[in-house]
Amino acid sequence: MSPTPDNNPGFGTRAVHAGQRPDPTTGAIMPPIYQTSTYVQPELGRHLGYEYARVQNPTREALEGNIAALEGGAHGIAFASGLSAIEAVIKLLDAGDHVVSEENTYGGTNRMFNKVLSRLGVEFTFVDTRDPDQVRAALRPRTRLVHVETPTNPMMRLCDLEQMATIAHEGDALLMVDNTFATPFNQRPLERGADIVAHSTTKYLNGHSDVIGGMLVVDDDDLADRIHFVRKSTGAVPGPMDAWLVLRGTKTLHLRMRAHNENGMAVARFLEDHPASVAVFYPGLESHPQHELAARQMDGFTGMVSMELGSGERAKAFVDRTHLFALAESLGGVESMIGVPALMTHASVPEDRRAFMGVTDGLVRLSVGVEEIGDLLDDLDRALKEL
Ligand SMILES: *Cc1c(COP(=O)(O)O)cnc(C)c1O
Repeated sequence: MSPTPDNNPGFGTRAVHAGQRPDPTTGAIMPPIYQTSTYVQPELGRHLGYEYARVQNPTREALEGNIAALEGGAHGIAFASGLSAIEAVIKLLDAGDHVVSEENTYGGTNRMFNKVLSRLGVEFTFVDTRDPDQVRAALRPRTRLVHVETPTNPMMRLCDLEQMATIAHEGDALLMVDNTFATPFNQRPLERGADIVAHSTTKYLNGHSDVIGGMLVVDDDDLADRIHFVRKSTGAVPGPMDAWLVLRGTKTLHLRMRAHNENGMAVARFLEDHPASVAVFYPGLESHPQHELAARQMDGFTGMVSMELGSGERAKAFVDRTHLFALAESLGGVESMIGVPALMTHASVPEDRRAFMGVTDGLVRLSVGVEEIGDLLDDLDRALKEL
């Protein structure tokens, strides 16, 4: 399905319409949930473009067209989860090939690379991608992929996407960017030279904390064919109901992200000024060491804020005392969430590496939702006063 308006519509218009058209049978304005595993073929050797739902599903295709249009790429390829999307890219490689990865990725990505995919013969080197020299120095003749996240989870470190693309391409490698935290509303890596954008649609893109899903967006036709081949051959597809729910989420992505950006900034400023906090990590703050890069490469700074409280006891006391900020893994939903990465999302990262990156037991990560900002600040203020 092609985007309905094709005269270069703005982000919000694409969010609402891209990838969709009224259902040809009934005119239904919403794409139907094609809850089917297979499709009847009119005669042997002829079908209507749909054979089997692992390979083709119209609801899924609507979602793929929608997110591809938001990222500014020609192809979206949906997966059952964010991790299976990233895994599919590694499955383009052969045993003996090498990947350079940001060290402070989502904990599950790190675990998949270290504990599963490295056993199959793909080699990984982890570096601090804030420093382009570390990335360049890690390249080997068989480096096929550079994988980055910016901002990183949960330390909010940034890397310069244009620099990363240049370095990867000098080494004949592809650049994959996990854009889950920023979303295409705030940052579009393909415009800065990335080859592959990866998403956990579970987070901001769906935005309503009711689906696990993933997406890859690429512009290159041949690369898209190779990823489609991996997905068809290995099978990590999302169901049509989940694809439909994420599509409902992306229709309001621009509205939600404006609210997340605004509330995130307000919470970061509030925490920075609060006597109980030791440090606040948010790329939108002037105090962030990479604020200048953030302002250049991002249009907004999201609702993700991390803060250091100084000890595991204080972090526990804080997250146990907030009410509106629900103690939960995950992020990017309309509801605010809070967690301690060292004990939750990043528990699978070895302790010495956590400490090295600054993921201490006193680090608290907030996913600021779209509730009224006064209520959110009250909740945080009351919990911090009780420490
Ligand atoms: C959650 C997350 C993932 C993993 O996605 P799932 O949908 O949980 O498999 C990958 N990257 C980032 C940045 C995430 O936040």
